[in-house]
Amino acid sequence: MKFNTKTIHGGQKHDPAYGAVMPPIYQTSTYAQTTPGGHKGFEYSRTHNPTREALENAFASIENGKYGLAFGSGLAAIDAVIKLLQPGDEVISTNDIYGGSYRLFTKIFEGFGIKFHFVGMGNAANIENYVTKNTKLIWVETPTNPMMNIIDIKATAAIAKKYNILLAVDNTFATPYLQQPLDLGADIVMHSATKYIGGHSDLVMGALIVKDKDLADRLYFIQNASGAICGPQDSFLALRGIKTLHVRMQRHCENGKAVAEYLAAHPKIEKVYWPGFEDHPNYDIAKSQMSDYGGMISFVTKGNNYDEAIRIVEKLKIFTLAESLGGVESLSGHPASMTHASIPKEEREKTGVVDSLIRLSVGIEDEEDLINDLKQAIG
Ligand SMILES: *Cc1c(COP(=O)(O)O)cnc(C)c1O
Repeated sequence: MKFNTKTIHGGQKHDPAYGAVMPPIYQTSTYAQTTPGGHKGFEYSRTHNPTREALENAFASIENGKYGLAFGSGLAAIDAVIKLLQPGDEVISTNDIYGGSYRLFTKIFEGFGIKFHFVGMGNAANIENYVTKNTKLIWVETPTNPMMNIIDIKATAAIAKKYNILLAVDNTFATPYLQQPLDLGADIVMHSATKYIGGHSDLVMGALIVKDKDLADRLYFIQNASGAICGPQDSFLALRGIKTLHVRMQRHCENGKAVAEYLAAHPKIEKVYWPGFEDHPNYDIAKSQMSDYGGMISFVTKGNNYDEAIRIVEKLKIFTLAESLGGVESLSGHPASMTHASIPKEEREKTGVVDSLIRLSVGIEDEEDLINDLKQAIG
């Protein structure tokens, strides 16, 4: 099955009870048994639920994995991965990661004796400098948020294999429509399904996908033992989202390209960060590991004026000023005052999050309306 067919049919079967084409929302915590242990494969919904199971099968299918696991949020999924580790273990992570991942690693798991190295991975060879005998996991996010840096998954996987380290890739920004990390050698793919997978800004959810049975069993154990699962209603919504992922992503990419090119040609814009530009520092890697470049774009205005950036995001009408990304509707964000406000100015500026940086999640509206909106807001 090819990707577009998988989004609709991958891992799915019609409901055995009445042949429902979409899996029903099994809004139940428990299941009747005829005799102790006499059940139909479902005992308690923290452990298994038919709607969640249909979704988990879909996750596995679209990422070319064998096993999928759904969680109550992206961070709950990351939390489960780190729980594979023991005190004394070390993790090498991208330095330019989602703020919530950074908070989970440093404020929760460092307290349990796990050591994190946050390193630049623009050149994957740099990772090897931080490998010790205790390194158990490499954590990669590509493209990164909000600077749209690209990390070479294949080269990172080669290092991970050489030292027998697990490689996990946060594939939230790219989605499997653009990039399939398991095929490039990663062991674990993670998603905030809140974003493109759900796609309609109506749920919060996380996912893990793996190929290896032993790794899957360890993660299922953690999922059940820690209990950070998602409910049947959200599972249904995410499954519905997946069925249009390919169509949405195609439009996100088309609109993203149009918006990136419009901004790059605008006399008031200093720089546009988007991996589809040939002058992006890792364009060659983006081109080889992604099938297109997505709808996430960041840009800075000439003069780098904080107040001007605020004025632009306030003036945008179709681009809603909001946290999050990946929905059908276009969103704007001002990292310096929103997602990255808690990071000291000198620190955030080191990674490029300057005062005038604006991040766009380009939706699937009409391209002309999006460009006209930017035109009236930027002036
Ligand atoms: C949003 C996000 C997360 C966290 O996911 P939640 O669903 O909000 O818990 C992790 N990684 C990336 C790249 C994200 O954008």
